Amino acid sequence: MLICLERGDNMLKGKSAVITGGVRGIGKAVAEEFCRQGADVLLCYRSNDDSARKTVEELKQYGTRVELIKGDVSEPSHAEAAAKMAAEIFGKIDILVNNAGITKDKLIMRMSASDFDEVIQANLNGSFYFLKAVSPYMIKQRNGRIINISSISGVRGNAGQVNYSASKAGIIGMTLSAAKELGRRGITVNAVAPGFIETDMTDVLTDDQKKAMSEVISLGRVGKASDVAHAVAFLASDKASYITGQVLGVDGGMAI
Ligand code: NDP
Repeated sequence: MLICLERGDNMLKGKSAVITGGVRGIGKAVAEEFCRQGADVLLCYRSNDDSARKTVEELKQYGTRVELIKGDVSEPSHAEAAAKMAAEIFGKIDILVNNAGITKDKLIMRMSASDFDEVIQANLNGSFYFLKAVSPYMIKQRNGRIINISSISGVRGNAGQVNYSASKAGIIGMTLSAAKELGRRGITVNAVAPGFIETDMTDVLTDDQKKAMSEVISLGRVGKASDVAHAVAFLASDKASYITGQVLGVDGGMAI
């Protein structure tokens, strides 16, 4: 039987990665691209057991190790457990992708304090907990790549998203400071700011909202999760070893 696998160019061969929110949407696309490029991955997920099992089955075709850990990124103990597990299983942590995120869009008048806190807690605090948890391992190795998923909303703002934009702008500030702090330890820290990407997160938008957003995309098409994954894989690779403290827009020209 002829088995034809879609192989990458092994840009991440021998690397190990922790990816939050790694079993669906953009996180899953990042996991797939990482495996295709030869990396072992620990996928963190919160709730979706079926997606988690399915993703592991799908990724087996690439022949690298794919492990799962369940937990809530809002809990510092989950980040610590994930970092410990990755270090034990893989012997090192080369890459962290802080991808897990939520929206709770509402106009300011209708947004409660808990709507605001919940989004900050998951998106911003969660990213900090993972940054803090993996840093000691990367510092010891004197090598590491951290990629934080921000958003065009964190760069440009968006009506109805003061909680989400604040969390994503916070991620950019955190990225810049961490890049300065960890650079001399051989660790790069960058952010990726996607525009409008087709996933479950954007599926809840109305057709009118989708149409309005699509109209301001210079390339004239909505983004795919794989568009983001390719940028993340590049930043995670040795080819990006002199790039740190950057915010890479993956938005089809939406932010121009
Ligand atoms: P999805 O809603 O498709 O997936 C979100 C992922 O985050 C899921 O895997 C979910 O896990 C996980 N997650 C959410 N909250 C938590 C939590 N508290 N603890 C652990 N895991 C959690 O979103 P996308 O794939 O579209 O988004 C991924 C990232 O990209 C997010 O940070 C988002 O803000 C960002 N982004 C997305 C854009 C888009 O247009 N789609 C645009 C700009 C940025 P589970 O399934 O287990 O609940």
